[in-house]
Amino acid sequence: MLPRVSLRKKNLPSDLTYLSLGSNLGDRQGRLLAALQSLTRHSQIDLIRSSDFYETAPQDVTDQPWFLNMAAAITTRLSPTELLSVLQDIERAGGRDRSISIARGPRSIDIDILLYGSLIVDTPGLTIPHPRLTVRRFVLEPLLEIAPDLVHPVTGQALGEYLPDVAEQPLHRICLR
Ligand code: ADP
Ligand code: MG
Repeated sequence: MLPRVSLRKKNLPSDLTYLSLGSNLGDRQGRLLAALQSLTRHSQIDLIRSSDFYETAPQDVTDQPWFLNMAAAITTRLSPTELLSVLQDIERAGGRDRSISIARGPRSIDIDILLYGSLIVDTPGLTIPHPRLTVRRFVLEPLLEIAPDLVHPVTGQALGEYLPDVAEQPLHRICLR
């Protein structure tokens, strides 16, 4: 008998949605893990893969503690705007209070949408691909760990080609497995 062929489309890395998570306040690892757990519990989100943790130097506002960053790949039926709203709910549950925070300053938990498949979104409240995706090592390294062959949907350039330009930004990978 022939094996049954599954008609379910396999998720290609380029079809997935990619998130960047970061924390530099309190129990950073606990906050990242709690955010991942919230993603897995959401009925319309499937967590496909997550990166190691990366200890990274703060950018822009440099007088603040180092961050712990990671990337995650998900599939979701939520639209980009709905997803952003869910991520902001998870940030709030993780102690994020935007009313008292300074831009690019310390944050208990930050979750950004890096890529949503190859979709391009350019609205006042949401920009995808994330505008700083290619200029931040703390974003690029974890992302390329879980999806090494990704291509930037706007420039068509392999994301790995942006790494040499950010190589000076301090970062230490924390291998957990
Ligand atoms: P940061 O830009 O440092 O992550 P915030 O987390 O405070 O700062 O986000 C500021 C605003 O950025 C959010 O209110 C959101 O509307 C907007 N934004 C635009 N594009 C994105 C994206 N791709 N992912 C997450 N937030 C985004
Ligand atoms: Mg953010």
